[in-house]
Amino acid sequence: LKSMLKDPSLLCERAYINGEWVDGDNGTFEVTNPARGDVIAHVADLSRAQVARAIAAAETTQKEWAKWTGKERAAVLRRFFDLMMENQHDLGVILTAEQGKPLTEAKGEVGYGASFIEFFGEEAKRIYGETIPGHQRDKRITVIKQPIGVVASITPWNFPNAMITRKAAPALAAGCSFVGRPAAETPLSATAMGLLAERAGLPAGVFNIVTSSRASEIGKEFCENPAVRKITFTGSTEVGRILLRQAADQVMKCSMELGGNAPFIVFDDADLDAAVEGAILCKFRNNGQTCVCANRIYVQAGVYDAFAAKLKAAVEKLKMGDGMDDGVALGPLINADAIVKVQEHVADAKAKGASVILGGGEPVQGAGFFLPPTIVTGCTQDMAFASDETFGPLAPLFKFESVDDVIAMANDTIFGLASYFYAKDLSRVYKVAEALEYGIVGVNTGIISTEVAPFGGVKQSGLGREGSHHGIEDFLEMKYICMSI
Ligand code: ADP
Repeated sequence: LKSMLKDPSLLCERAYINGEWVDGDNGTFEVTNPARGDVIAHVADLSRAQVARAIAAAETTQKEWAKWTGKERAAVLRRFFDLMMENQHDLGVILTAEQGKPLTEAKGEVGYGASFIEFFGEEAKRIYGETIPGHQRDKRITVIKQPIGVVASITPWNFPNAMITRKAAPALAAGCSFVGRPAAETPLSATAMGLLAERAGLPAGVFNIVTSSRASEIGKEFCENPAVRKITFTGSTEVGRILLRQAADQVMKCSMELGGNAPFIVFDDADLDAAVEGAILCKFRNNGQTCVCANRIYVQAGVYDAFAAKLKAAVEKLKMGDGMDDGVALGPLINADAIVKVQEHVADAKAKGASVILGGGEPVQGAGFFLPPTIVTGCTQDMAFASDETFGPLAPLFKFESVDDVIAMANDTIFGLASYFYAKDLSRVYKVAEALEYGIVGVNTGIISTEVAPFGGVKQSGLGREGSHHGIEDFLEMKYICMSI
């Protein structure tokens, strides 16, 4: 891997605490390339005590960091952003090697991840308070916004770069310090960012990356350490619930980006070719391993067969392979369990009467975790994927008749993150957009992620929003000052 990097020093196997590169008390854990099955790094496996030391350092430094002006924080974050972009290729190569997504997607993620650092650096200058007319003649009321303090972050493997910057950038811009634990599958993107943060001139202790294979121990430290004032998490709803319960003892502030089960609806007045293109981007980006990937595709009866045929033709063209190879659109899945989950969903659907019109077969033999994409038709609400996120290359097609029917089916889930639909009739567009119980609605588009918009879910998909000017509020406390004059 080192030999593929323009700057080999970006491959860091140690953790980054208080401006120092540290070895793990528990030795190392292995990082595997999911396309080839080979070990690409041995990364520091930190103990809970080491994470406690990182939190202590973050607590001390945060008090100084909060004194910096917004403009000063903006300047260093701008340098951090510039360094991410200058190293976009190398960061992309590291990301593809540990996560599997095609290099173009990986570089795209680095650009997307960096955009949060740029955006929130700019926002650092605009953390405005408010004055409120006093309630008595001699009273003056001011509201100021202050950083919450030490922020602990837990992130998943599907976006090893951007899930960290979406949390770290607003935290740092607000004047918080940050202790992040990346997923053990993908720690190298995180440690590379530690190096760039150091080069950008972020003060020691403000941005820490604690690598560890012991997720639940670290999660407990984050929730039980009184110096931590906020926990921000992206991952499954199941683990989100555990963290919320643990964080309750300290009444800790929590932001949660949890699971989704996105409906993708194609109405009979849709531009079918655009809908197919959107479905491909939405369903097969990162090989179906995103929390905003279409999980259920609802197609109105009049265009159902035509859409299925066009989708099949488009999916057949997608090239599967090592993400480092040219033209690859579908990389490997993250591990063997991910393959099993897709296979279980296909088997369940078949047993309940669905038809496989593409794929449905076995994984590719060999060292990597490759599973060809599958399309199933004739799907119904009792099938597993109607309630459970597949997180893989499986596109289930459901047929519907009326707008009311499809809204009821689309909302029939505990999740409420992203949703999508394709239609042209304006009044239908408005009504459906308002009726979908989701935090995000894509209308005639399959891609909705941008740093300038608030990303987040309703129902059991989470708490809080990331991105946009709203995103920084989750890292600020309001203080009301009442003055008698
Ligand atoms: P995913 O399906 O994306 O892996 P998870 O919710 O299982 O979603 O994991 C998201 C992140 O949370 C990963 O970094 C994982 O290691 C971590 N994690 C899993 N269980 C716990 C836990 N009990 N406490 C803290 N972190 C956890």
